Amino acid sequence: MEKPEQKDKQYVWHPFTQMQEWVARPQKVIAAAAGIKLIDTDGNEFYDGVSSLWVNLHGHRKAAIDQAIIDQLGKVAHTTMLGLANIPAAELAKQLVDIAPAGLSKVFYSDDGSTAVEVALKMAFQYWQQQGKPGKQRFIAIEQAYHGDTVGAVSVGGIDLFHRIFKPLLFTPTHIPTPSCYHCQLATDPVTCKMQCATRLEQVLAEHHEEIAGLIIEPLVQAAAGMLMSPPGYLAKIREISRKYNVLFIADEVATGFGRTGKMFACEHEGVTPDLMILSKGITGGYMPLAATLTTDEIYNAFLGDYSDKKTFYHGHSYTGNPLACAAALANLKIFREEKVLEGLVPKIAVTAAKLQKIASLDHVGDVRQRGLIIGIELMRDKNSKVSYSWEQAVGASVCLQARRHGLLIRPIGDVVVFMPPLASSADELEQMLTIIESSIREITEVDIANYSSIQPTDL
Ligand code: PMP
Repeated sequence: MEKPEQKDKQYVWHPFTQMQEWVARPQKVIAAAAGIKLIDTDGNEFYDGVSSLWVNLHGHRKAAIDQAIIDQLGKVAHTTMLGLANIPAAELAKQLVDIAPAGLSKVFYSDDGSTAVEVALKMAFQYWQQQGKPGKQRFIAIEQAYHGDTVGAVSVGGIDLFHRIFKPLLFTPTHIPTPSCYHCQLATDPVTCKMQCATRLEQVLAEHHEEIAGLIIEPLVQAAAGMLMSPPGYLAKIREISRKYNVLFIADEVATGFGRTGKMFACEHEGVTPDLMILSKGITGGYMPLAATLTTDEIYNAFLGDYSDKKTFYHGHSYTGNPLACAAALANLKIFREEKVLEGLVPKIAVTAAKLQKIASLDHVGDVRQRGLIIGIELMRDKNSKVSYSWEQAVGASVCLQARRHGLLIRPIGDVVVFMPPLASSADELEQMLTIIESSIREITEVDIANYSSIQPTDL
């Protein structure tokens, strides 16, 4: 009988994967999980060091979420939101509004981060059309942004490797600089720079605000760019500028939401209420696809009118507001309340920070960035003069492959080793995972480069 690995290689096309390399190499098939570990078909266990692509919060097979889905299955698995309501979707909307930054009062469901981004962009666009400002049609995005893979989300993205080929299909936002001090091209000193990355927004808006519908940003952390983190005050500052020029502020909290940064939402760190907030990934504790675009009464009200006014938001997906996913999300929020997850993160974040100090001192670690339990460790060939490794050497990928040999699953972004463990990881488990990362970095970067130059990214 064909094994799952063979079937996979024969029939499946994997995301973000060079399939020629995938099929040529042995691949792991996950069969089960327990807590923060994944178990493959050979019975090997691995720490889930990137939370199954930044989604899992409370570990796998969390009894309360399993049970909530089972209970909902006993009622109804799916029913449409077009023309009907359902109980878990209504309750979840209320609870999301309760925990969201004050001022966000309405919830529009979709299925994943990308669709929730599309919803936000289209809502912002249509809002101005219905507010008597039809000239406001364009968006501002941040360089190196990543908001998903659908065409609208790619339009406001800025990662050359992923997005360049699709340029002819896209609309073009105005990009403002990435607020990342380590990679800053605008100033030499982060203390005296007066945050020129933010001032650039003011310059653009002073001239063009009549044409700009909204600004979209990943608050605090540009995740897919390599966990680039903005300096304190940046988020609040650009929020203030967007308000001054009457431009909608769209916070994409797909990666940062649900406790990852140490608070429920990244915007809370700087007291920011966006006009639109995008949630997905952790919303169901990492169990099921679900997303929500939250917005204000002001935006919602602009879509009200008679049917014949044609102010309706004509957008929706088959599985929007899926009751099973909403039941999982309700169980997720209950765990946050009952297990005091956010309070419990404080010592875990501190343990991580202490361990990262040691990693930062390694010879080939150029920068270590941490926000809560989001961590990016940037490797450099020469850390003092900031000389990177060449792309072909795939050093980040080699470190992650080495970590896998030691029982930790992580994925790199270029030469940034990403560590985004489930919030449920204990202090001990965090230490163990970080120890694996430390030794993997040493084992790869402190040997002769010729020994690992043949390892390709899809060895992962
Ligand atoms: N926005 C951000 C900030 C993300 O990190 C991602 C996915 N990594 C997305 C949007 C897209 O989400 P999805 O993959 O669920 O479509």
